[in-house]
Amino acid sequence: MKSCEFSKNINWKRPRFATSLELEWIHSKEHIENVKSVSESGGGYLDPDTPVCPESYDIALKSAGAWLDGVDEILAGNSALVLSRPPGHHAEADRAMGFCLFSNAALAATYALKQQGIKKVVIFDWDVHHGNGTQHIVQSNPDIAYCSIHQFPFYPGTGSQFEKGDHGNVLNIPVPSGYGSTEYRQIFDKQVLPFIQNFHPDLLIISAGFDAHRNDPLAGINLEAKDFAYMTKHCLEIQPNLLLGLEGGYDLGALEECVVGVAVCLL
Ligand SMILES: [Zn+2]
Repeated sequence: MKSCEFSKNINWKRPRFATSLELEWIHSKEHIENVKSVSESGGGYLDPDTPVCPESYDIALKSAGAWLDGVDEILAGNSALVLSRPPGHHAEADRAMGFCLFSNAALAATYALKQQGIKKVVIFDWDVHHGNGTQHIVQSNPDIAYCSIHQFPFYPGTGSQFEKGDHGNVLNIPVPSGYGSTEYRQIFDKQVLPFIQNFHPDLLIISAGFDAHRNDPLAGINLEAKDFAYMTKHCLEIQPNLLLGLEGGYDLGALEECVVGVAVCLL
């Protein structure tokens, strides 16, 4: 993205590290220690999809810290696009899963609620997979709502429309393989936008995976870059500043096109 013409208009920032104390807001001490010890002892597998190397713990702290910096940008009156990995939405309170070590979006929402002026947060997860970890962590919190459109049946197997959260604060919209722009835009307009609006969030976080793109090798949804821009523009009508952060997205060309398309909307 740095090669794009508009790159000079972006305020690029290097993120801070999240602290283990911050992670303890949403994760068990045992989970944090486990990630740290497996990583620092040379690496290994936290689950069959989630390998770590000696640097993984520090990188995951930095990835989570980038989302916290993103919240600070919102408080300063800006939008933020967090280009960090590893992603987070599969990591539950006490386990890593699906390439995810710590739940970045849930951590950012929790951090935001500790700041003055932010009383309600919505996390909209348009990654093609259900964010089981984010939902697991936030569904008992009446001040955080979680909404996901995801391919189903598909990994990780959660995300039924009957999972509503402890306070009616969860909206899951499972969709079959083969859905594309038309179906997604209808669902977004008729279900996602009203759900977000009805919650009256002070902060809108988007778990911005781009693996619902038609070129993605892992999934079977047929979105194009302009569809993510469409959703971004309409979210900006609800909240003038958005916090978006990467989740999945495994076709690098599609990922680049989608990220640039979303970034342009934020300028
Ligand atoms: Zn995904």
